[in-house]
Amino acid sequence: RQEVYRELRKKPSTTKDGVQVDLLMNAGLAVDLPQLAEAGAAGIGLFRTELQFMVASTFPRAEAQEKLYRDVLEAARGKPVTFRTIDIGGDKVLPYFKGAIQEENPALGWRAIRLTLDRPGLLRTQIRALLKASGGRELKLMLPMVTELGEIAQAREIIDREVRHLSRFAHHLPTSLKLGAMLEVPSLLFQLDELMKAVDFVSVGSNDLFQFVMAVDRGNTQLANRFDTLSAPFLRVLKQIADAGARNHTPVTLCGELAGKPISAMALIGLGFRSISMSPASIGPVKAMLTELPLEELKAFFDDNLMAPAQELPMRALLQAFADD
Ligand code: PEP
Ligand code: MG
Repeated sequence: RQEVYRELRKKPSTTKDGVQVDLLMNAGLAVDLPQLAEAGAAGIGLFRTELQFMVASTFPRAEAQEKLYRDVLEAARGKPVTFRTIDIGGDKVLPYFKGAIQEENPALGWRAIRLTLDRPGLLRTQIRALLKASGGRELKLMLPMVTELGEIAQAREIIDREVRHLSRFAHHLPTSLKLGAMLEVPSLLFQLDELMKAVDFVSVGSNDLFQFVMAVDRGNTQLANRFDTLSAPFLRVLKQIADAGARNHTPVTLCGELAGKPISAMALIGLGFRSISMSPASIGPVKAMLTELPLEELKAFFDDNLMAPAQELPMRALLQAFADD
C-alpha cells in the first residue's frame, strides 16, 4: 500500500474525468512539517497554531511564535499555508492561562475567536508574529468559531492596525493577506452569501459543525456512533456551503476529520468541494480514491438521491454501493 501511495504522489491530483481537487494537510507543530513532502500534500490547509501554546508551560513569546511561523513557511517552499488564529478554550485548555473560567458548557463557551477578541493582546501579538514571518510572501489567516460577521470585522480592524504599525516601522510586509473564516457554527448557514462576501475564503470545520448541527458532543463516546456524518441532512448542509462558495466565487475548503476518509472525501467532492485538508496519513488513501472517481456519475447520483425524500437505504450505504461499483 505505502508503495502504491508513493507512486501516486507523482500523479496529478484529479478525478478520473480530469477535475482538479487540492489535497492539503493539517498540521500544528514543527515535527509535522516533513510530512508535507512525504505525503505529497498540495499545502497546509489548516495550521493549528494553538498547539504551540498547548505544549508550552507559559505563553510562547512573540519571537518563538514568529520563528515557528517562519519555519513553517520555509518548509512549505511556496506551497500555500493557512494559519488559524489560536483556537483555545472549549476542550483545549491552557493550564497557565489565568483568565480561564469554569464553564457549564465549554464547547458553547468562551473559546476561539470569542476569547481572543476579548483578550486582543493575545491576538495582536500573534498577528504581528504572522505578519513578520510572512514578509515577502502571501499570508493566509483564518478565524475559528466565527458566529457573527461582526467578529470578522473586529478581527480585521486588529489586523489592519498591525499592518499599519509594521509599515510605519518599514517592516517587510506580506505580498498579500487573505482573511478567511471557519464555518463551524450553524448561525453562519443562514447568512451564507453575506459570509462569502465578507471574507477571502471559507474553511468548513466539520468536526465542530457536525457537533453543533446534530447537538452531539464530539468527545462523547456514548454517542460516537449514533449519528452519521454522511446522513442526508448533514450532506445537504455541506452542499449549501459549496454552492454558496461557487455562487460568490469564494474559495471553500473543508478541514475536519471528514476529509480524511475516502468515502466521505468522495462525497465532499461530489457535493462540489475542490479543496480538502486532512491528516497527512490520509492523503495517500484519499488520492487513490480521487484518481478512480468518475465525478460526473457521482454528481448524477447526488442529483437523484440527495434531495429525495426518505430513501430505503441510508445515504452512507448508497454512497458505499456507488464506491463499490
Ligand atoms: C473542526 O472543528 O472541524 C476543525 C478542523 O477544528 P478543530 O478540530 O481543531 O476544532
Ligand atoms: Mg473546530
